[in-house]
Amino acid sequence: MTNKDLANIIFPDITKTIDDYKEMYPERNLPEGAKVTRFAPSPTGYMHLGGFYGAIIDYVLAKNSNGLFYLRIEDTDTKREVKEAVDLIVESLNHYGIVPDESEYNGVIKGNYGPYYQSERKEIYHAFIKYLIEIGRAYPCFCTKEELDELRKHQEERKFRTGYYGRYAKCRVLPIEKQIEKIQNGEEYVIRFKSEGNFDLKFKTDDLVKGTLELSQNDEDFVIMKSNDKLPTYHFAHVVDDYLMHTTHVVRGEEWLSSLPKHLELFRAFGFKAPKYIHTPLLIKKDGNSIRKISKRKDPEASMAYYKDKGYPTEALVEALMTIINSNYEEWHTQNPDKKFDEFVYSPKKMSSSGAFFDLDKLDNISRNIISKMTKDEVYKNLYKWAEEYNKDFAEIISKDVDYTKSILNIEREQKKPRKDYACYSEIESQIWYMFPELYKNHEKNFEWGKINSSEDIKEIITEYFNNFFDKNDDKETWFNKVKELSEKLGYTTDMKAYKENPDNFKGSVADVSTVIRVAVTTKSMTPDLYEILRILPQDELELRVKEIM
Ligand code: GLU
Repeated sequence: MTNKDLANIIFPDITKTIDDYKEMYPERNLPEGAKVTRFAPSPTGYMHLGGFYGAIIDYVLAKNSNGLFYLRIEDTDTKREVKEAVDLIVESLNHYGIVPDESEYNGVIKGNYGPYYQSERKEIYHAFIKYLIEIGRAYPCFCTKEELDELRKHQEERKFRTGYYGRYAKCRVLPIEKQIEKIQNGEEYVIRFKSEGNFDLKFKTDDLVKGTLELSQNDEDFVIMKSNDKLPTYHFAHVVDDYLMHTTHVVRGEEWLSSLPKHLELFRAFGFKAPKYIHTPLLIKKDGNSIRKISKRKDPEASMAYYKDKGYPTEALVEALMTIINSNYEEWHTQNPDKKFDEFVYSPKKMSSSGAFFDLDKLDNISRNIISKMTKDEVYKNLYKWAEEYNKDFAEIISKDVDYTKSILNIEREQKKPRKDYACYSEIESQIWYMFPELYKNHEKNFEWGKINSSEDIKEIITEYFNNFFDKNDDKETWFNKVKELSEKLGYTTDMKAYKENPDNFKGSVADVSTVIRVAVTTKSMTPDLYEILRILPQDELELRVKEIM
């Protein structure tokens, strides 16, 4: 009996060879230097920010090398509903304008290097495993869970490195006849890779972010095919898929770095060239005084849903991540405001290899800046789109009189330094509710009167102002002069310098008078430009509000 017999007994129906597959998946016809990258998520029903950040790197690498970016669904390990989980992944990518060049989605297959779902590639994996068995580099292992637990315990008690390697890998020395007999008796088995490595020996390998690494050789006979569903493990599928699909650059989280020696040994066993690796540092955040990894369990911002729910402009999250990916991105973006992020030439070397610091405050700043530079039409369009999905009542209110809403969104916008008050669309209602009569009516009101807070003084200012000074048609200068006139008339100073030096010498200043008018019509002591607010709010609404506080 030979290894070939063993391989045929395990995979009697597998007739295609590795060479057949090499022909079916020929070199890609791409220009010199083109990078082929992939996003290879497991469909868990959750889209992690960290995954998206890797996908952006993949996308940028492919796009600015005239290469290709594909989506591969790694569903060998999931018992959950794959369809919805994949919808979530594809929608998340598309929301940010990231469309894979190759994928399989909703029955539409783009690309000739599929199937793009690992669960549909079983036959391919089996052909490659069959080959390894034939050349004596893989074997069936019949150890039960109890035996493996026992082995681990034994190793732990003696403080030995745990794992199935060397003399602990007892199934590697089973005679072929014995292996075949066990299989024919219906015993359960997994397939393990037969390592030739020596853990005490080191080898050098390059990671494009981390530089040259010195790692111990792999000596573990790790599982490459599971027993129940006969699907491969991640380690094995990674090697076969990235080889056949001609991935040039594998971008993945640094949690995979420790398995790299396994992957490299597998590539070598097949005689395949390994791709280049970019192991991305974990996304970390500040938590009080410490810094820790962003966690799915603790941090809502770990989920991509967070940014969509809140209504961050897509460019804002992309920019925040790009800035972490390469710190010179911000400068490049300022110099090339009209270019899309995928035109930026990403340099793995410039990436911090220790940790990627993701800061929500920074995202807010980036986002405020981006929204402030939009036209009123753009903000309206984006706000409405967001509200239609997440705040239907508000969507209805703002769309009743679109021009009215736009005039509100335009306050302090078309100017050299536009106002930066909205970080995301969900924040807008809480900042402009008082501009909509129907929201104002039902809103809980807390009048934020300032220095002038006696009802007598307030009434005096309001009555005088609206009866004798306010005119909707005034230009801004006239408007302000009138507020000053009113102040002088009622004994409030307009000499701000003198007032600041000795506030107690005065009843108040023109600023206090403006505050009274502002609070009277909005309830807020801080708002955007009061002149604009008074100009935009309908006359009858102004009258109603004034009457209410009298
Ligand atoms: N399916 C793996 C994961 O979701 C992919 C790692 C890789 O990109 O190779 O972590």
